[in-house]
Amino acid sequence: MATLEIHDLHVSVDAEGGPREILRGVDLTVKQGETHAIMGPNGSGKSTLAYSLAGHPKYTVTGGTVTLDGEDVLAMSVDERARAGVFLAMQYPVEVPGVSVSNFLRTSATAIRGEAPKLRTWVKEVKEAMERLHIDSSFAERNVNEGFSGGEKKRHEILQLELLKPAIAILDETDSGLDVDALRVVSEGVNRVRESGQVGTLLITHYTRILRYIKPDHVHVFAAGRIAESGGPELADKLEEEGYEEYVKGGA
Ligand code: ADP
Ligand code: MG
Ligand code: MG
Repeated sequence: MATLEIHDLHVSVDAEGGPREILRGVDLTVKQGETHAIMGPNGSGKSTLAYSLAGHPKYTVTGGTVTLDGEDVLAMSVDERARAGVFLAMQYPVEVPGVSVSNFLRTSATAIRGEAPKLRTWVKEVKEAMERLHIDSSFAERNVNEGFSGGEKKRHEILQLELLKPAIAILDETDSGLDVDALRVVSEGVNRVRESGQVGTLLITHYTRILRYIKPDHVHVFAAGRIAESGGPELADKLEEEGYEEYVKGGA
């Protein structure tokens, strides 16, 4: 059972005028098979947490530890983290000019599995995953995220998730900008991965809407760079009714 353990994580970002502390002591444990929702107001540091776990160079860890099965994640390069099984679906996925979706997926799968997937089964695997996510087959030959609509970008992230089956999946506002139909398709993808029991999911979201489709085991309120409160699904219901005001007042 893979376990991601975040302990007292402090992170600064290189901003104009010098480094600025954004994460102020995050504690969180995510086990394979569990789904954790991280909910919080804009600017509270949710994306900073996601990027820090994935190893984005702009974010400097100034304190604390992150381990995956006891291995020091913070000492790993971005590639090593991906191979170890940490997957990030970004809030704003970036374009990869000149690289087709098809090549990108196969290269990623090869890196993570340690060997190239057998071509025939792989092609079938990709085709079926694309069909489940209502992604047109012509998509495979397009360059990654180039000219993709918001919904296409998010479905492409879930396509990667389904094919790569990471140990820990960090989904940063995968729900933002989706209409109800796309939200349902994306949520079904996340739920399929979740039902495999192999993936621990960190579902980062501002809105409670996606939690109608994906039922988290644990809900955490993120405010001013740390987890302000943790609970079960009932905490999301409370947030839906009362918003984040209570947490923001005392924060920052
Ligand atoms: P959230 O995802 O919860 O909306 P973010 O992690 O994106 O929050 O941002 C938290 C705070 O850190 C914000 O005040 C934001 O302006 C600042 N911040 C994040 N990334 C950067 C960056 N690359 N440069 C400067 N400031 C940043
Ligand atoms: Mg934001
Ligand atoms: Mg964000």
